[in-house]
Amino acid sequence: MHELIGSLIAAGPVLTDGAWGTELMRRGLKKGECPESWNLNHPERVEEVPLRYIESGSRIVLTNTFGANRFILEKHDMGDKVREVNKAGVKISKQAAGDKACVFASIGPSGKLIVMKQVSRDELEDAFTEQAEALADAGADAIVIETMIDITEALAAVAAAKKTGLPVVANMVFDAGKDKDRTMMGNTPEEVAEKLSTAGVDVLGSNCGQGIEGFIPICRRMRTVTDLPLWMKANAGMPEIIKGETVYNATPDQYADVALRLVDAGANFIGGCCGTNPDFIAAMKNRGL
Ligand SMILES: [Zn+2]
Repeated sequence: MHELIGSLIAAGPVLTDGAWGTELMRRGLKKGECPESWNLNHPERVEEVPLRYIESGSRIVLTNTFGANRFILEKHDMGDKVREVNKAGVKISKQAAGDKACVFASIGPSGKLIVMKQVSRDELEDAFTEQAEALADAGADAIVIETMIDITEALAAVAAAKKTGLPVVANMVFDAGKDKDRTMMGNTPEEVAEKLSTAGVDVLGSNCGQGIEGFIPICRRMRTVTDLPLWMKANAGMPEIIKGETVYNATPDQYADVALRLVDAGANFIGGCCGTNPDFIAAMKNRGL
């Protein structure tokens, strides 16, 4: 096991952070605006996000680099700024973290689908390599691949991230099938855990897609096929659209109660995805996480 990962989980489960997108919106990010452009234009507002999470108990914070791959940045006319945006994202989170937390750098999906022939696996690996190198050069402690819906894309990102030599965390979304236990492409938690383990990740798991209750069987099933540390970040319940706004209904206390059961199911890293905020992290910390 990678030394950093081993030392983090040695004393029990580790609290990570919560959602970023919604936190940036609370600070003025507009719909359709490129969140990662804020790394260059509003670094002080971006820095408030990891600062608040660390104050609430996060021992790991991510970076505002989820969509900072060339395909997504191109849509915002920033295709030539991949390095700059990723390096700035790491710098901001490191400044907030100091020696209080680790900075795990975020890589999200490309927004292109291999099955629709919008992109090839090699093109994806190239783009993720460009992003991962910039994140590593800026001093990230690890790389977190998250919100992946296609295992082939996730594996391309893993191959790219592993070239940096940093610990690699990889997560997929399970929100399909009648039991919400499949990826969009139909893979089960067991299949995903096996493929990611074989690819050499240091930590694997799931994020986004559904509320925390649904993460318990996913976590338990992944645990049956791997001894690797598991990373779980659920949404704050299922989203409801109220007056055109997406609203998540789970309260921090409800979420934190279930988080304890997630530990029993084998989770080593716990945080939150869409709809969660620093209060969710604080509620989990209050329960001894
Ligand atoms: Zn999410």
